[in-house]
Order: sequence, then structure tokens, then C-alpha cells
Amino acid sequence: MEPELPPAWLVVREPKSKQPNLSAAFASKQDAEAYLASGDAWPGSGIILDSPEAKLRLSAFPLAEPAHVTVRENWLKRHDKKLEPYLKVPKSCELLVYVNGTDYAPLASRKAGLCPLRKGEQWPACSECGKALGYAGVIRFAGSRESQWSHGDALVVFYCFECMPADGDAGIRLTWLKDGDALELAKGRGSGPARIASNWELTEYVWDWEQDEKIGQLLHDQAAYAFFTFMWSTKIGGNLLWIQEDETPTCRCGKKMHYLGQISGHGDLEFGDCGVGYLFSCSKKKCLDTKMVVQCS
Ligand SMILES: [Zn+2]
Ligand SMILES: [Zn+2]
Repeated sequence: MEPELPPAWLVVREPKSKQPNLSAAFASKQDAEAYLASGDAWPGSGIILDSPEAKLRLSAFPLAEPAHVTVRENWLKRHDKKLEPYLKVPKSCELLVYVNGTDYAPLASRKAGLCPLRKGEQWPACSECGKALGYAGVIRFAGSRESQWSHGDALVVFYCFECMPADGDAGIRLTWLKDGDALELAKGRGSGPARIASNWELTEYVWDWEQDEKIGQLLHDQAAYAFFTFMWSTKIGGNLLWIQEDETPTCRCGKKMHYLGQISGHGDLEFGDCGVGYLFSCSKKKCLDTKMVVQCS
């Protein structure tokens, strides 16, 4: 768990106006200045340091960087009174937020990077189309809020990005690995430059599309839904929010499976259109099963 969120240096349009418009957020002032100098920023943009008191108009952006989480937390504080009636079913979870990096433990949470395989194991192939499965990422559950439901220290998720199965065994491979297992780090489909995760303990809320417009008018923020729920993100625990209808799997023992968390895609490996792989486990000794159900919009 990360102790403290980074500062958020914001590149804003019309910095002198009553409500500057947020274009981008960075954890360091240098990165914000580099963005401003790059020519990608709107002409006349400026830099401000975010705080709950900042006057700001937001446009939607994914919580893809730690500084984005800071922006979200400040937004919630800034509007706490107005938002209060809309913050339904608060539930804490661990949101995984990714940064580029090269230094990571074999079973650290990440997207891309080298893929951990048991020593001597072949890169898995899809039993449907025969092509190599894509390596979606590693989620480390050891030490997390769901560790008692996990069947190893880290889960490696493989998926057939050709067949795009919604569930089942063909085209989905979920491998639990333990610290101390004899491993090798392999390159294959999806193992590009690593994106290393940090886990942020955050509260998420159930999102109700009917309130989208109300909040948009109230706060002049189109980002509201992305700040309420992490339904398109990679996370451990929290609210199980389906993009489509409820498809919670039933285990072979007959029990509904337990929601562990979920994984979203990376690079050219997307679970369909902004899709998510929902992860479930059964902790019964005779099962110890793990399943993934994929939905997209
Ligand atoms: Zn396939
Ligand atoms: Zn079971």
C-alpha cells in the first residue's frame, strides 16, 4: 500500500479565468513543464498545483497515473457537500495505478514487462485457435485485502485476444504463482515495456447513469463517473460493477464464486471495447478454482 499520494501539477487552459480547464496532470512540476513545452498543450495554457481549494473545470480522463488519483481525491474534497447525496454504497478497494519502469520483482503487479512462467513451461496457446495467448498482466494478491481468497501470491492472466472469449477455459489461462517457485521471465505477446503498479487504498461508489447529467450540471465536471467508480480499472476487491448484466459465475461446488478484483487491458491488448476481465475464486479445498469473465461496452 502506498502511504501518500503524489502532488498533482496541472496543465490548465485559460489559467487566469474563473474556472481553468484541466488538460493534464503530472506528479512532478518538471513533467508538467515538459508537456507545456512539447506543443501538445493548448496555446496559452499554464500550470497550477492542485488542491481541494483549486478552482477547476475537469474533463474526463482515466485514472491512469498516480497524479490522476490525487486529482480525484481533491475533486471529492472540493465538492464534498454537493456530492454527498450521490456517494452511494461506499466500498474500499485497492486501485492499481501504473507507471513505466524496468525494476520489478518477478511476481510484482504489472502490465506488460517480462512474463513469469514456471521453469520449463511453454508460453501458453489458445486451445480454440492455437495461437499464442496474450499476456494481460500480473496481479499480486499476497498482502492485499483479498489474500485469503487467493490461491497463490500472484495471478498471471493470459487471454486469447484473437478469439476474445467471454468466459470458460478456451482462450483464458489463469496461473497462480508463489514466491519461491522456480520461475523464468519470458517474452511473448503482451510483454512490451513494463507498466508497474502501485496499489492505492481508495473508496469507490456505485455509479448511477441517471445522476450523470445532474452532477455534470452541478459541478461542470464531465469526469464525474470516472471518479465515482473504478469499473474500467484494474483493482483488487471493492464493488463488483458489471459493464453488462450480472454474470457472477457459479463454481462446480454449486456456490457463487467470490469476486477477487478485475483487470483491464493494455497497449494493443484490450478486452474488446474498453473491456474488463472480472476475476473470481472459490476457496473450498476441493475446488480452489479461479475464473475470469470478460465484458466490454
Ligand atoms: Zn484463440
Ligand atoms: Zn467451489
